[in-house]
Amino acid sequence: METTAVIGAGYSGLITAYQLQKAGYDVTVFEKADIPGGQCHSLPAGGGIVELGCVFGTSPALEELCHDLEVKVERNYFYRQYLDNHGQKIPQLDETAIQKFKDEYKMLPSLLSKYDICLNTPGFYNIPEELKMNFKKWCSLHDIEVLTEIFSAYFSCYGYGELDTIPAVYVLKHLDLSSLSSLVESRKIITFPQGSSSICNALAQKLSDIRYNSEVLEISNADDESILIKTELSSEQFSRVIITTPLKSGIVSHPFFSRALDTFITNPSNTLVYRIPSAGLVDSFVVNNTHKDGKLRLIHVNSSNSEYQMISVYSNGYLEMKELDLSMRESLSSMGIDSAVLTASKKWNFFPHVESAMLYKGFYEELQSRQGEKGIYLGGALSCCSSLDKITEFTSAFIHRYF
Ligand SMILES: Cc1cc2nc3c(=O)[nH]c(=O)nc-3n(C[C@H](O)[C@H](O)[C@H](O)COP(=O)(O)OP(=O)(O)OC[C@H]3O[C@@H](n4cnc5c(N)ncnc54)[C@H](O)[C@@H]3O)c2cc1C
Repeated sequence: METTAVIGAGYSGLITAYQLQKAGYDVTVFEKADIPGGQCHSLPAGGGIVELGCVFGTSPALEELCHDLEVKVERNYFYRQYLDNHGQKIPQLDETAIQKFKDEYKMLPSLLSKYDICLNTPGFYNIPEELKMNFKKWCSLHDIEVLTEIFSAYFSCYGYGELDTIPAVYVLKHLDLSSLSSLVESRKIITFPQGSSSICNALAQKLSDIRYNSEVLEISNADDESILIKTELSSEQFSRVIITTPLKSGIVSHPFFSRALDTFITNPSNTLVYRIPSAGLVDSFVVNNTHKDGKLRLIHVNSSNSEYQMISVYSNGYLEMKELDLSMRESLSSMGIDSAVLTASKKWNFFPHVESAMLYKGFYEELQSRQGEKGIYLGGALSCCSSLDKITEFTSAFIHRYF
């Protein structure tokens, strides 16, 4: 009987395993932590749920999945504001920029139509040369000025990186027209009243073989027919393995997949959750801080009552937690918010991607031609953009294509 190992029980690994199991495959998931979910990480606190990682989605496919899993979702308007460093509300665009924005936004669909195949196929297929350059360069090539700021708010503020280094294909696929319009036009987004981890918990519950505290230490080809997966406690053979998360160097013995995994870059992102005295805050982009490591760039309000609000604040960069806590308190204080109590904190490395130079060298084209070689695949966020919407859409196509 054919057996498949999936490495990682974040959303990527869980949705891959769930869909394969539904299609009749025998699947085993290996997870190094003692809980499922990875970056979908919610905790009970302050009379509700606080989020350390993922917060919302937009796609009907994700909503449908939640419905099938009986995971509670809500459709809420995305109320947000733009703040300066002192907590003063500022307009996202000034009056003169607004007209230019409208013109640019209107012509975006026709500009993007020439990349239709790439942008509308889940994953990274047929990437046009133009989309391999960094996003800022692509914008100036097409005389896009104001929209760059809009993309920056939704891409960089969420920690996906700087637009003058991130290749255009990631920005345009992540913020495709439908996701962008959900945010720009303030359509309803999908939120999870029981936390984003409720989706991962529901997926994990459906799986018949999931192993926690099982960090995969070695993936090697036992022979042409099987793959050996070693953890501290076990050594087992499988017909196939789907790796869904960046792994430490040297774990995979296959030279191509080992090199491919070493090529991925991730972004350091930090989340701190505070209980603050009720300040009437809504989700806020602190726009001047977006590109400064260790500075508060985004506030998400988890819950509010008349006494206090539970907020998650986000920053970029590799900093010590103590330093981050001080920096977040300083920012909150300059917004007039004192006596914040730290409830939880977490450092992430997320959004596995490759730099422009590797795209020009045909990184994804080679990956696609070698997927399945010796039974090894790179799935989930290693082969598509890192968001619940994109991973959901990609995984169905991935399974359809290779299984
Ligand atoms: C702060 C933050 C906010 C975000 N907000 C949103 C949002 O609002 N909407 C949205 O759509 N997306 C959001 N994202 C992105 C989204 O959370 C991710 O795209 C998604 O959760 C990634 O899932 P994954 O399975 O690919 O990776 P991960 O969640 O990182 O999962 C990888 C798993 O693999 C395990 N693992 C690693 N190495 C090994 C090993 N050797 N052996 C076994 N297991 C291993 C890890 O423990 C982990 O559980 C956010 C991300 C962050 C960090």
